[in-house]
Amino acid sequence: MNNIYFTLGPSQLYPTVTDHIQQSIEEEILSISHRGKKFVEIYEELSSNLRTLLNIPSTHHIFFTGNSIETMERIIANTVEEKSFHIMTGEFSQRFYQIALDLNKRPEFFEFEINKDLDFNQINVPQGTELICITENETGTGFQIPLDSFKQIKENNPGVLIAVDTVSSAPFTNVDLSFVDIAFFSVQKGFGLPAGLGVMIVSDAAIEKAYSLFKKGISIGSNEFSFITHVENEKNIHAPVPSGTPNVLDIYLLSKVSKDLNTVGIKNLRADAEKKAKLLYDFFDNEFPYKPLIKDQYRSLTTIVIEVNGKAGVIADSLAKDGFIVSKGYRHFGNDHLRIANFPAHSINDVMNLINRLKLFKEF
Ligand SMILES: *Cc1c(COP(=O)(O)O)cnc(C)c1O
Repeated sequence: MNNIYFTLGPSQLYPTVTDHIQQSIEEEILSISHRGKKFVEIYEELSSNLRTLLNIPSTHHIFFTGNSIETMERIIANTVEEKSFHIMTGEFSQRFYQIALDLNKRPEFFEFEINKDLDFNQINVPQGTELICITENETGTGFQIPLDSFKQIKENNPGVLIAVDTVSSAPFTNVDLSFVDIAFFSVQKGFGLPAGLGVMIVSDAAIEKAYSLFKKGISIGSNEFSFITHVENEKNIHAPVPSGTPNVLDIYLLSKVSKDLNTVGIKNLRADAEKKAKLLYDFFDNEFPYKPLIKDQYRSLTTIVIEVNGKAGVIADSLAKDGFIVSKGYRHFGNDHLRIANFPAHSINDVMNLINRLKLFKEF
């Protein structure tokens, strides 16, 4: 099989992953204890590589979960007594909001209308908001929040915690974490790794909030998975793992791939991503019968979504015959959207090959 996966997660493996998996078997990583010295070494190496790659400030900790939907639940439980506020841009921000409802909080939201201008100064964050939740890149629609927004939101709302979903924009994301209290992602998207690990980057301020809720007697979920357990394990056993056995293989692979990405350099990675995105958007804007869903400055770098009027199945099946695997629309947009990932694992050549294959669709 020689397919190339332009799917939005799981996606194409980063090219070095196969060798790293082989190496992990040789080093017996798959059998070591997650409480031992070797694991602490793997964690420390990961921390160093990831901090360089994503420019993580020393005020922020790196915690692990199983995946990012789980991360959303941990964030609400650990930082919200009553009021979270959600900037609703699509399906994933909707799920973050629903999780707050499920946990008996009183979340509110601002709904963003697709292809209308978004002015963060006009968003009225309600009094008493404890946490603002933002999806940097909506994987369903291909909508990306402009980067300078985060500074604006933090400055307009001092003292309010901010959580940013960067699941489908990491590692390209250039969000300035000094304006963000919690950022999170999963490894099966931009990092090109097997699924099964969520990463959250959590500020001291967010951890203090968990302690203060706990002291007030408010549930922050079971203590097995709370921010408090993460941070106390970080202090005591030098690895910020919650209870339960973490995905040691993925933590190892994330460290190795972060190192490889640092070798390429984040600036080069971003420049490449921009080149590939431009090739794709130019092609769809000018040469394809169907057009990108999102206009202008809100277009995602990593998630290219095309409105195809019920043809997604036909197009995806035809591409798959030649080994190009793309995503159809998210949930009820199944047949109406075609979605293409632009991650570090996709080379410029891969993208040009995909475009050349798409050129064969002339009429519908
Ligand atoms: C995929 C995705 C998630 C969920 O991640 P999982 O690892 O599948 O839980 C959350 N938010 C966004 C924007 C995503 O693309």
